[in-house]
Amino acid sequence: MTIYNLGSINIDHVYRLPALPRPGETLHAQSYAQGLGGKGANQSVAAARAGADVIHLGAMGAGDDWVPRRLAAAGVQTSAIARLPGLATGHAIILVDAAGENSIVLHGGANLALPAELARPAGLGRGDILLMQNETNLQAEAALHARRAGARVIYSAAPFSIAALREVLPHVSILAVNEIEARDTFAALGEDLPVEGLLITRGAEGAEFRDLRSGQAWHQPAFAVQAVDTTGAGDCFTGWFAAGLARGETPPDALRHAAAAAALQVTRKGAGDAMPDRAEVLAFLK
Ligand code: ADP
Repeated sequence: MTIYNLGSINIDHVYRLPALPRPGETLHAQSYAQGLGGKGANQSVAAARAGADVIHLGAMGAGDDWVPRRLAAAGVQTSAIARLPGLATGHAIILVDAAGENSIVLHGGANLALPAELARPAGLGRGDILLMQNETNLQAEAALHARRAGARVIYSAAPFSIAALREVLPHVSILAVNEIEARDTFAALGEDLPVEGLLITRGAEGAEFRDLRSGQAWHQPAFAVQAVDTTGAGDCFTGWFAAGLARGETPPDALRHAAAAAALQVTRKGAGDAMPDRAEVLAFLK
């Protein structure tokens, strides 16, 4: 079973400054770091490190060859990543002040111009998983195609948009949301959603999975760790949970592995670069 992940690829540019610049002000950064980000790339890396067979469906501008190299080093198949030379690779300019407060500018670039053929990936079929978030175009088309092909669709509704959710939901098998996204979803659509399963992560409170067909639900507490950077925790959890389902784990087993992976991930700086691998997670759970 393969996970096809239709998702964003971003380069995170992180600048640390004493204070965030005010309008009209120019400031020198104290440090600069570049990292791999984008919810799509993060989830691909998480699922691949979890041991899943992952094909990333996405797009970038020209150059930035370290990005697909880093994805490939994590075990992600990158040959379906389209290169769109006239567009910028998606990126985030992240300013962090001394107190840890941040301001972020996002540019979707190539992520929002995925070529239509990526919605119909060769090979996607029964038993496979189409994973998606809300940082690219083509979600509804890809989900419709995947369901017709007999695949399961896992949709991470972030960044949250009720319009995007309404469009894609009829084709979604499992909806993955954090606590705030869950509240917004229930407020707009009620709790009786037309999906098979609902994954809700609640930060340090843990996570739950509801099987909406059988009515069964499982709660997984978070593991107690010293968190230093929770960026990408939800992506780590979702990627690991998808990988668990792809290898046939039961929901409680997939939840436990995902919670352990996310606990390790928040103890490290970075997003995509901080995803733990299977050996680390199994050692943590010993
Ligand atoms: P998001 O990043 O999408 O907002 P959450 O904050 O809900 O996602 O975090 C996802 C998962 O990561 C949680 O369900 C939990 O398992 C793990 N996690 C997040 N924060 C912590 C923390 N401080 N300690 C341990 N685990 C955490």
